[in-house]
Amino acid sequence: AKKTRLDKFLCDSLNITRKEAKEAIKKGKVTINGEIVKKPESKLDAEDDQVELEHQPVIFEQFHYLMLHKPQGVVSATKDDHDKTVLDLIHENFKDKLFPVGRLDKDTEGLLILTDDGMLAHELLSPKKHVDKVYFAKVSGSFTDEEVKKFQEGLDIGNGERSKEADLEILTVGEDQSEVLITITEGKFHQVKRMVKAVGSEVLYLKRLSMGSLKLDEKLELGMYRRLSETELQELK
Ligand code: URA
Repeated sequence: AKKTRLDKFLCDSLNITRKEAKEAIKKGKVTINGEIVKKPESKLDAEDDQVELEHQPVIFEQFHYLMLHKPQGVVSATKDDHDKTVLDLIHENFKDKLFPVGRLDKDTEGLLILTDDGMLAHELLSPKKHVDKVYFAKVSGSFTDEEVKKFQEGLDIGNGERSKEADLEILTVGEDQSEVLITITEGKFHQVKRMVKAVGSEVLYLKRLSMGSLKLDEKLELGMYRRLSETELQELK
């Protein structure tokens, strides 16, 4: 398997700086397979060799999985000339490898997974997998039964595209706006907004609540993120 430098392995796995890693190594706090190693440039096999720091095993993380509560005003890209990106909200030394799994519009909030695991991203985004995405939306006006039915059956959303079957649950109906839950299995460009528009209404606010089995953690404030738990990750895969 691929060999990695010990200092790099430590900072990637523990999210410490290269300097901190080097210091710990030089002080003799780090062992590879039980032997104290004092050279930061020592090589190891991240999958087979056992590394310990102060007698605690250092677990190798091949990939990283974060759940971000995306706020409005940032774009779901890794680079942008004009706008802040979702990566600007991440403070981890492995962040350069991360990318968002799918996109949320600049003015959409909610659950966004960031990872460096291309396979998982592919699984979640592949149209064949029909991963459910649930959105909370505030929309203008209200829907007639007829419109709800059309929405659920699939609609012409412009550009020669049709939406597949979707779910629409009306939560509240106000004088000039309604709150709804929308579940879709696709991820076409501006999909929810185009579906709502196709039944003569307009999205005023949009927030993604879940993707497959993964739900946005209610405790995560806007702009904050955390790692997925082991259970969340297993269920998602
Ligand atoms: N559908 C949209 O229209 N926008 C989003 O950000 C996500 C789904």
